[in-house]
Amino acid sequence: MNFSKPTLNIGVVGSGFMGKTHVYGYAIADRVFDLPYKLNLISIADINSKAANSAAKKLGFQKSTADWMSLIHDPELDLISITAPNSLHKDISIAALEANKHVYCEKPLAPTLEETQEMVKASRRSNKKTQVGFNYLSNPMFYTAKEIIANGDLGEIISFRGIHAEDYMSDPRSPYTWRHEPVGGGVLADLGSHILATAEFLLGPIKEVMGESITVIKKRKTTNNKTKNIKIDDISRSFVRFKSGVSGSIEANWLATGCKMKHDFEIYGTKGAIRFSQERLNELYLFSLSDKKNIQGFRKIEAGPANKPYDRFCVAPGHQLGFNELKAIEISNFIKSINNEIPEPFNFASGHRIQKLVDGIHRSSKEKRWVMI
Ligand code: NAD
Repeated sequence: MNFSKPTLNIGVVGSGFMGKTHVYGYAIADRVFDLPYKLNLISIADINSKAANSAAKKLGFQKSTADWMSLIHDPELDLISITAPNSLHKDISIAALEANKHVYCEKPLAPTLEETQEMVKASRRSNKKTQVGFNYLSNPMFYTAKEIIANGDLGEIISFRGIHAEDYMSDPRSPYTWRHEPVGGGVLADLGSHILATAEFLLGPIKEVMGESITVIKKRKTTNNKTKNIKIDDISRSFVRFKSGVSGSIEANWLATGCKMKHDFEIYGTKGAIRFSQERLNELYLFSLSDKKNIQGFRKIEAGPANKPYDRFCVAPGHQLGFNELKAIEISNFIKSINNEIPEPFNFASGHRIQKLVDGIHRSSKEKRWVMI
């Protein structure tokens, strides 16, 4: 029997946290989903030859390079994953699209609106597919939440509260990194982009924002013991109004001591409510006014095979998926879009849309007024 399928050859730029997550996601997606292509990990680039070589050995690539441009121009490659710092996303993406490769770029698409605009233009000039890494949207419980809202089970939606908070910058002694550079983007672009994407995924477009973005820790030491001033935001909060009329609030915070992965939302409607917390990503809580009064309360919906595509990973409910499985789902959908089976789930135009919201919140913060998106 011949199991052969066409191949899709992959190059990855960056072998840090997300580089490894992409590799893991490709490996799982290739085995768990019925993909139209066999996924081959071919080449990896990193900041120098030693790092690239060591990553290639550990992660199972055939080649490595310290020059991302040469990886982009490798004729063997079909798809480029960009998991390098945010400031490099634009140049690498545009070069890859111009070299006729599909591009899977980590979020935020880029730290500024001008850059994301250029990237969208490049994607429109190319006939290749694009994807931005908003992996939380691939949670089966998000699909369930969206279905509950669309079915009208919550009645008319009245309000939304969303937060993405972590604490990895909360220690003022932790060193200055690429995330603190002005081109790093700040907490709203870096983390807030995730919760903005979730808000629009669930409730449609946001029309207006009124925000405040602040820098709390104004100086940090580099690893060479030099002091650097910080201009980007540490905390950003905003009121938002959706096009549908729903009112909401959004918070992005990387100084949230004790919060490890608070990507949480609450949605209230006239007939019920739902709430979710990423630290318990297999659970969605539903309150329904149609329940008998004496048993009313938030009930837990525990992820299981009925919450597709959970069933691809596990036949038993309650055994739980993790962060890496969300990445595998995201990858499988991107690969299907490359084969034109489904539309691109979250392409560069969608990433640009999120950057418009980020830019609007920052402008609103500076100008102290509501900003239309
Ligand atoms: P990281 O610092 O762990 O990794 C970045 C990698 O890029 C490192 O290996 C670094 O050496 C390499 N690199 C730097 N300059 C390079 C160059 N010129 N050429 C090639 N490689 C280079 O960072 P990370 O946490 O993996 O973040 C990478 C990207 O992923 C960022 O855009 C970030 O916003 C995003 N991210 C997304 C999620 C998510 O949930 N989707 C989570 C974390 C990070």
